[in-house]
Amino acid sequence: MNPATPSPIKIARRGLMLVISSPSGAGKSTIARNLLEADPEMSISVSVTTRQRRPSEIDGRHYHFKSIRDFEAMRATDSLLEWAEVHGNFYGTPRDAVEAAMAAGRDMLFDIDWQGAQQLQEKMAGDVVSIFILPPSMAELQSRLHRRAEDSEEVIATRLANSRAEIEHWREYDYIVLNDDLDRAFSAVRAIVEAERLRRDRRPGLFEFVNGLLTENPF
Ligand code: 5GP
Repeated sequence: MNPATPSPIKIARRGLMLVISSPSGAGKSTIARNLLEADPEMSISVSVTTRQRRPSEIDGRHYHFKSIRDFEAMRATDSLLEWAEVHGNFYGTPRDAVEAAMAAGRDMLFDIDWQGAQQLQEKMAGDVVSIFILPPSMAELQSRLHRRAEDSEEVIATRLANSRAEIEHWREYDYIVLNDDLDRAFSAVRAIVEAERLRRDRRPGLFEFVNGLLTENPF
């Protein structure tokens, strides 16, 4: 920062819940990872899942990997804010971490499918900002899934078949980003986050700040 630039005035705001969905292979996870690296005010909701861990994944970081029995126990005790069956496995968002982040005014990113997005939009309408990432073409989606090479042919086939169903829900999202170029798509997502943070109704601290402005006497 330029030494002449004054330090920013802090205005209290509520955290936002940034939901990003897309079919597998459209680049959602890369965009999410880049956003977390670039944006210190954003943290990610680590989901629980019953799917098998991929070799590159770390338990507790990418997902909390659970047995079906443990997943059902979490569901039964209302410990999941939302949950869904996706590609034949169960996935869910642990409630505690989200509530802690929201209470502290921190932003949270959710890499979840359309079913989870619907549930969060119903439960916390004012806090959710949703983005759907579209691939440039189905052919490109297929080749990205093959390039990832972490899933079997059978798993890739299921994911491709399900991607049409996922894309059909695009209208339920606030913003649609076309990922024909990763840098451009990433810039679009950052712009959305920046603008949403400035929304008046998300910034209760403005009341105090503006009152201060109006009672200040510079003369
Ligand atoms: P993957 O198995 O490729 O990690 O994820 C498969 C799909 O499940 C992705 O579309 C991902 O966004 C979605 N997903 C991951 N975690 C959750 C979750 O907690 N809830 C819901 N509803 N979907 C999830």
